[in-house]
Amino acid sequence: MGKAVVAAVVVAGAAAVAGAALVVRRRMVTSAARWAPVMQIVEEFKKQCAMSATRLNQLANDMAIKMEAGLESDGGSELKMLLSYVDNLPTGDEKGLFYALDLGGTNFRIIRVQLGGQGKRVVKQEFVEVAIPPKLMVGTVDDLFDFIAAELEDFVNSEGEGFHFPDDDYRPREIGFTFSFPVKQSSIASGVLVKWTKGFNITNMVGEDVVAELSRAMAKRDVNMRVAALVNDTIGTVAGARYHDKDVVAGVILGTGTNAAYIERIQAIPKWRGTPPKSGETVINMEWGNFQSSHFTITEYDLALDLESLNPGEQIFEKLIAGMYLGEILRRVLLKLAERAALFGDVVPPKLNEPFILKTPAMSAMHHDTSWNLRVVGRKLKEILGIQNTSLKVRKLIVKLCDIIAYRGARLAAAGILGILKKLGRNTLPKDDIKQRTVIAVDGGLFEHYTKFSKCLNSTLAEILSKEVAATIVIDHANDGSGIGAALLAASHSQYLEHRES
Ligand code: ADP
Ligand code: MG
Repeated sequence: MGKAVVAAVVVAGAAAVAGAALVVRRRMVTSAARWAPVMQIVEEFKKQCAMSATRLNQLANDMAIKMEAGLESDGGSELKMLLSYVDNLPTGDEKGLFYALDLGGTNFRIIRVQLGGQGKRVVKQEFVEVAIPPKLMVGTVDDLFDFIAAELEDFVNSEGEGFHFPDDDYRPREIGFTFSFPVKQSSIASGVLVKWTKGFNITNMVGEDVVAELSRAMAKRDVNMRVAALVNDTIGTVAGARYHDKDVVAGVILGTGTNAAYIERIQAIPKWRGTPPKSGETVINMEWGNFQSSHFTITEYDLALDLESLNPGEQIFEKLIAGMYLGEILRRVLLKLAERAALFGDVVPPKLNEPFILKTPAMSAMHHDTSWNLRVVGRKLKEILGIQNTSLKVRKLIVKLCDIIAYRGARLAAAGILGILKKLGRNTLPKDDIKQRTVIAVDGGLFEHYTKFSKCLNSTLAEILSKEVAATIVIDHANDGSGIGAALLAASHSQYLEHRES
């Protein structure tokens, strides 16, 4: 049906045919006539994904408006703008020994830091990273948290030289808990789990207080610790970065998923209830992955990806940007090119039909291939998709598709950041002659490892801001803010005042 270009042959049941037979029958696209439909599909896709500066600006306006809406309503807006209950961002004056636990992916980490107080900052730090056994990701709360508590117990027992805890009185060590799943928070150290994501599915936990569960597990093992702060990775990133740099206004995660958090004045939060903190500000978890805008162009590939996802209609911004999806978008475009324009010959390579087989790190490796014959592209196609002997022309085309997909994502992320700058009034220079410097801390594997993505994000910001303003904006790679940030928040929300600023 509708196969645009085909020589005589092999269509029915092609996908079911075994690999060896395919290799023989496949014929590569070579002649100009066979390329025309390929280029038509690619050019169409390129046109749809192009985001002009004007468009990005409109998108940023949209983001700023929806941020306002989310600050007014409790859950009624597409941007949830969740209150973090972080009243005291770390200042650098915090002192003493603190722990952090970072759970939110396939590994969890336990960190300890010795904070030296004014000017001395982090004197010493140690961590362990532990893979979560897959069966615990779909087991019971008790089993998962007991596993974590056991690791905490070992780690605390290994506390050595350089870490000091006032041992004159028997009191718990304080720990910050980075728990990167949707949580409805009710104070800095309590909140109930809304749902599991990222492949976790633990029974008896949704609707339960996350801190109470962890505390119970720790008590069972006689781990004498008190959870002083419960945060997610974006909040941790803001806190960690702010500790080192007073000009940090926001944190962005570009990893498997994407999210952002920023520092907001209490006065600008209509839905704030109760007494405002002394600092007059707090951190807002935007949950920006769920942003939607009429200024996006959703291609047929995006649409299908969304429809077939676990959460159709949700997290649309994330599905255009984040590491979980970029490789999958590429796979979908390649599949169409194979089916409609015989890019890989007369038979569609069967593995191209498998969702999520092509991961973003592989896409990134192909995109960064600098060899004259695009050796890496050829190797990845063979290893991952079972496609042998690709021509240089085909490989070049794949790099071009990587450009289109990664640059669209990076440009959209830049527009999101511009949205935050607009909300904060930092997309223009202050009227008086005050020197302004604005730092956005960015963390996550996509930003860290996908160089062409992060470079494009930076250059796009320079393109959509005036030159003078662009000179005041710093995009800072916050390496592991989220882990250490939680320990710093435990310190700045410590129950024991001698740890905090005077
Ligand atoms: P998480 O977001 O799960 O907490 P990370 O911040 O470490 O974890 O990000 C991991 C994600 O980063 C991966 O899922 C992948 O999408 C992306 N990533 C990791 N390495 C690379 C790479 N070399 N190139 C491009 N993307 C990468
Ligand atoms: Mg992470």
